[in-house]
Amino acid sequence: MDAEIIAVGSELLTPFRQDTNSLYLTGKLNELGIEVRFKTVVGDDRERLAAVLQAALGRSELVILVGGLGPTKDDINRDVVASVLGRPLREVPEIRARIESRFKRLGRPMPENNLRQALVPEGAEWLENPNGTAPGIWLELGSTTLILLPGPPQELEAMFESACLPRLERRTTGERLRSRVYKVVGLPESEVDLRIAPIYTAYTNPTTTVLATLGAIEIHLRARAASDAEAEALLNELGDKIELALGDHIFSTRGESLEEVVGMYLMMRRRTVAVAESCTGGLLSERLTRIAGSSNFFLGGVVCYSNELKTLLAGVPEALIATHGAVSKPVAQAMAEGVRRRADASLGVGITGIAGPGGGTPEKPVGLVFIGLADEKGTSVREFRFPGDRERVRFWASQAALEMIRRRVRS
Ligand code: AMP
Ligand code: MG
Repeated sequence: MDAEIIAVGSELLTPFRQDTNSLYLTGKLNELGIEVRFKTVVGDDRERLAAVLQAALGRSELVILVGGLGPTKDDINRDVVASVLGRPLREVPEIRARIESRFKRLGRPMPENNLRQALVPEGAEWLENPNGTAPGIWLELGSTTLILLPGPPQELEAMFESACLPRLERRTTGERLRSRVYKVVGLPESEVDLRIAPIYTAYTNPTTTVLATLGAIEIHLRARAASDAEAEALLNELGDKIELALGDHIFSTRGESLEEVVGMYLMMRRRTVAVAESCTGGLLSERLTRIAGSSNFFLGGVVCYSNELKTLLAGVPEALIATHGAVSKPVAQAMAEGVRRRADASLGVGITGIAGPGGGTPEKPVGLVFIGLADEKGTSVREFRFPGDRERVRFWASQAALEMIRRRVRS
């Protein structure tokens, strides 16, 4: 069975609200072996919604309409469905009674327009809303199923779990869909694809998608089979080949972030880290402390922007800054060593660079970042030239520092 989701709401066409319900629904449907083939976002407009709905009903076996079930004038989904299908709306006394008693329980008068929520197209079943007043609507139209769900995510999710999942489970052929995500760092997308395209193009099941996200390349595999175990076996077969081709550039096989992986290694090896940050302004410390249990490995960090504070807080000799400049290899090294020594940490990190947009020169352009990593065996410093704006340079610097730590503590 293939599905299609239509998210209805003019606010979803602004920069301020995102259609997150369809992500939730897609995850749940995939677990049942149902693929989502189309997604549409449409505003609260009768004609446009009618056109979108008609197209969906003509091509998809399962159509889920999200939102637009509220009591207000702009909630038009049930009206539009009734008119597109030519089925008049009928009041369901049981829903009306439930809405009335809900308001009584809350001790509030019921606005008359709430009763619109008791209207259901002829021949439809209605779905109880455990978390609100608007019931959902379930329609069987020959070989097509149309479901209307409320927009508020907590109402939609509760209703989907309790009313829709069991019905859909009975319906599906039992085919299972399993997915796996590999995350890769340190290789550009083109290089990743060069290495693995010859492998994955030989498979139609699992399907493979390669996508570049900020800081990592993700490889998504999706396998379908009669059972979870068979789908896993298909993922393992292709996954093993991909792991071989990309080696230790893969930092995550279960969706973990780079900081999570780094934190796990640090804890496993009982190592501690302290950081001295200039151009990242604390971003590396922030990312390391996102992880629960980070107090086991993260001792602390200093943000030292000015030359004076690089000396005062990270012990960088004044003369070193005067000779080489604050953004330089020796200063990154001294920051890493200084903060390691002062914090008595196993690892020290120093980051100095030019995040832009101003401050670049021909010798030291925007995006130039030096990262030092010190431990008991010595200090390595790497020079990076990150493209992009200030935010990207700062993020990439923190990402590169995490990757340097990962490589050091992994072995
Ligand atoms: P509605 O049922 O259309 O009145 O929507 C009620 C609330 O749910 C509003 O705050 C909407 O912004 C939110 N909402 C509606 N559709 C979605 C969606 N697809 N994803 C996330 N939130 C939504
Ligand atoms: Mg709405």
